Amino acid sequence: MNKALMDRLCDQVSVTEMMRHLEVFARRMKYSGTPEELESFLYLQEEMRRYGYRTTLLSHDAYISLPGDAHVEVQGQNLACITHSFSRSSPPNGLRGKLVHVGKGRVEDFAGLDVAGKIVLAEGLATPAVSMLASRAGALGQLHASPDEHLHEMIVSPVWGSPTHETVANLPDTVVCTISGADGARLRDRLAAGETIEANLSAKVDTGWRKTPLLVAELPGSGASEDDDEQPFVLLSGHHDTWHYGLMDNGAANATMLEVARICARERKLWAHGLRVAFWSGHSHGRYSGSSWYADAYWDDLNRRCLAHVNVDSTGGVGNTDLTHAMTSSELIGVARLAIREQGGGELQGRRLGRGGDQSFFGIGIPAMYGGVGEQPPGTPMHGKFPHPLGWWWHTPGDTLDKIDPEILVRDTRIYVHTIWQLLSVAVPPLDFAENARRLVAELETLSGALAERFDLSGLLRRTRDLHSNAETLRRRLADPLSSAAVEEARGALLAVSRALVPIEYSRGDRFEQDPALMQPAFPPLQPLRELCKLQAEEDAAKFLSVSAMRACNRIGLALDTANSALEKCLSRLDAEPSLAAE
Ligand SMILES: [Zn+2]
Repeated sequence: MNKALMDRLCDQVSVTEMMRHLEVFARRMKYSGTPEELESFLYLQEEMRRYGYRTTLLSHDAYISLPGDAHVEVQGQNLACITHSFSRSSPPNGLRGKLVHVGKGRVEDFAGLDVAGKIVLAEGLATPAVSMLASRAGALGQLHASPDEHLHEMIVSPVWGSPTHETVANLPDTVVCTISGADGARLRDRLAAGETIEANLSAKVDTGWRKTPLLVAELPGSGASEDDDEQPFVLLSGHHDTWHYGLMDNGAANATMLEVARICARERKLWAHGLRVAFWSGHSHGRYSGSSWYADAYWDDLNRRCLAHVNVDSTGGVGNTDLTHAMTSSELIGVARLAIREQGGGELQGRRLGRGGDQSFFGIGIPAMYGGVGEQPPGTPMHGKFPHPLGWWWHTPGDTLDKIDPEILVRDTRIYVHTIWQLLSVAVPPLDFAENARRLVAELETLSGALAERFDLSGLLRRTRDLHSNAETLRRRLADPLSSAAVEEARGALLAVSRALVPIEYSRGDRFEQDPALMQPAFPPLQPLRELCKLQAEEDAAKFLSVSAMRACNRIGLALDTANSALEKCLSRLDAEPSLAAE
């Protein structure tokens, strides 16, 4: 990588240019599928066109839920509140029920409680996990006590993207409202003292199919024509819909995307691949309906050509100085570490990508990185209370222009320029699958130890160790100069390895479905084996789990074999062509 060129590119990040975009974004609230949002998309399209990109403004059906008015009344007293995207609407006079405190609303908190026909009082953000448990337990409503004094907008659907005929039944059945942390604590204390409390929840939520926009802007890499539909590309994406004015989330991120696109386009002659920039709707009010639809509608194109997905969210927030926890998949951690070290001056510890943030492409098998990059450092009020501490204004009307720190916006954008340039300018994408193999070996060793004689994982372990060795060998070979044929070979192999391994590390392994928007451990297909460790072999439940566990092993085994054979074929071709090294 050419360090002088990289510095020159990063130095071009212009705060003036980004603040100009932010002033436009500050004019409109961008709720999914509304005319104001569409107007704002037209601005993005015009800017991307000015930077030389070919743009397509798509429109598609999406199942969108926009929260309206809400009232919470407890024994004659009205509490400040909001309702949430995908809450049920209440009957016109509200929904009355007895309150039952369910702590943080985890599985163990619901255990042993009868909440049927009642309203649960849960501490913390209104998440899909709590909605699912409350709905299944037959609760009528959910009252959430905010982790702080602010009312944070949330989406409570566990269904990823627009529901299918099969998943529509998983939408929440409850009316969901949030009150302040202090109001929630008072109710909790009264319940703990043995008082019976009735609450009345009233909520209007506009849920239904709407047309939503989706902007795709692209430029082919050097040597490819405008209509080349074979050349691989890097996907840079972020949502454009917002809660309220959403200047950090996601106005600043959209300004970052425009700026990265502008700067990179100037050196297009050096691109080894194309760049595709996508702005989604339906992130906040459709549970990633835009990116999820795009994954379905362009499945074949993405499967054949997309090398990596870089997501941009909530850049530039005041006080978001901590860069140690940026999220990335393991094969891209080296790219993230270098960008953050050189442009942010921080040392990345890394964090596994969660089930959020328009990461709709794990099933296809596209390596992914980032949501945002910076967050509030330890010791600040949000730390420990929010999954991503991004400042108190996150998902509130307070997310306005004054929450953007121009210096942090420039720092974050430099990190994104550095990241995209690492991916765009190198012919063989820097995907290091040795790290995935290391993680899978560690998982399998733990399970193998715990299941001992009951379940033989030695075959999977051997194939995973082979994967590690193959990936390491390829990495060493790629340090040598390569002919264009060898480059093609290596790039194709890494694409095949991605398609095999990303789905088993980040999804249950179905390449066409979306897993629910609920927390998932690494290598989700291994879950039956993890559950099996907790049971005695003779129990019926253990035998049921063993059926799933065998299937899980087959799924993982096939993925490992596919990855290993792609790598071995590539290595033997490289070995068979010694002239390549000299060309
Ligand atoms: Zn966001």
